[in-house]
Amino acid sequence: MQNLDEKSDKETDDYVAGKVFTAQIDLLYNQFPIAVIGSLVVVSCIAFMLAGLVSNTILTVWYLAFLILTLIRGWLFWRYQHESDKNYQNWANAHIAGALAGGILVGIAPIIATHAPVEIHSFILFVIAGLCAGSLSTHASLVKVFLAFLIPATAVPGVWFLFQADQYHLVSGTVVLLFTLLMARSCQNYAATLENALRLQFSNEILNKRLTEARDAAEAANEAKSAFLSSMSHELRTPMNAILGFAQLIEDDEDSVLDAEHNEYLKQIRKAGLHLLSLINSVLDLAKLEADKMEVFSIHVSLGDVVNECVTIISPIAKQAGITINDKASSCDIEIHVDHLRMKQVILNLLSNGIKYNRDGGSVTLEVPEVRGGFCRLTISDTGVGLSSQQMDEIFLPFSRVAEHAVRVEGTGIGLNIICNLLELMGGRIGVESEEGVGSTFWVEVPLIEQSNK
Ligand code: ADP
Repeated sequence: MQNLDEKSDKETDDYVAGKVFTAQIDLLYNQFPIAVIGSLVVVSCIAFMLAGLVSNTILTVWYLAFLILTLIRGWLFWRYQHESDKNYQNWANAHIAGALAGGILVGIAPIIATHAPVEIHSFILFVIAGLCAGSLSTHASLVKVFLAFLIPATAVPGVWFLFQADQYHLVSGTVVLLFTLLMARSCQNYAATLENALRLQFSNEILNKRLTEARDAAEAANEAKSAFLSSMSHELRTPMNAILGFAQLIEDDEDSVLDAEHNEYLKQIRKAGLHLLSLINSVLDLAKLEADKMEVFSIHVSLGDVVNECVTIISPIAKQAGITINDKASSCDIEIHVDHLRMKQVILNLLSNGIKYNRDGGSVTLEVPEVRGGFCRLTISDTGVGLSSQQMDEIFLPFSRVAEHAVRVEGTGIGLNIICNLLELMGGRIGVESEEGVGSTFWVEVPLIEQSNK
């Protein structure tokens, strides 16, 4: 089958119409055994009622004709069930022909019985009406099939009766013709409803298939993007480390012939290089997270020790920015179950943000306000610019930066997204409370040892 995405609307409509037609024919043949048994019972009852009242030869020929027709239709049904590559139009025609022949034989019955006693005649009309009403459910998936049966079975005797001169046949003929009209109308409604339901079902199937194809394509594109980002970052990291290493060597060289101006250039090269390296590392982390390839190795770690390590690393940067660090957390005696390196990454990112998005002379405070329900909460509060409630919702999305911050402060907008995912991998979570112009408190909850051992 052609890819559904490449199909035009016209082709899609044709495809759905073809599927609907196939389903209609399937329904017809699936209902066939019930239809045959029903008509066999009715025709046998009529033959039994007419025995002795009409010519035996006519009755025998009529009944035998019906039995032969039933056998032929039974054989067709068997072939339909066993044929693999079906021509559905031919099978529809075969069913129409079968229904027409059946209708003619049924319609002949009241004509044969025209001169039978009134109660017998009425009984025959009654059972034929019942047979037609019943065949609505077995034949009406295709209007043509139903009409091929209904018209000869009822309209033909109806018209015949109208030509009989007596009052009884006139009334019977009128009623039978009215019945024919009503049944034809009901069949149209039933068939239309069924066709709509089938059309909807197949349209939905196409829609689902397209959605699946689109999702698969998007996933493949995303995987390709992650693979590209990952290999690019790896390729960039090696020369970047070499640039930084050699710059460091020149900086540390006691016999350096560089003057103050060139030393400043060197400092700028290292600063920009370090920034680029951290960017490359972030992109690498993001690519790994998106490709579900990030691994965390959680162990028992002292929260106080990790906080202490981070504060030591960040203190020179805070001092340079004129921000005070109030560390009320490193003294805590709490064991947590996390990946040591990744936990450091989380705290360092939040501390670095607390410094970057602070005001002159501001402060950043670390606290462990609560240990509850198997989790420990660490808060990192700043006295900075703060965030609106809408901004608080957005900052955890990848590459999302507050516009006013982006113009003043260097950043990539992926740090929070990465640490949010890392915490999730470690069984923890992150959140923020903030007031614009007052400051923000980022909180992190990580599992305690007892929780992770459970
Ligand atoms: P980056 O800092 O590199 O831009 P992050 O993902 O760490 O990336 O942060 C995303 C955005 O969230 C930042 O650009 C900033 O707008 C906002 N933000 C983060 N931390 C704070 C904070 N402590 N105070 C105010 N805004 C913050």
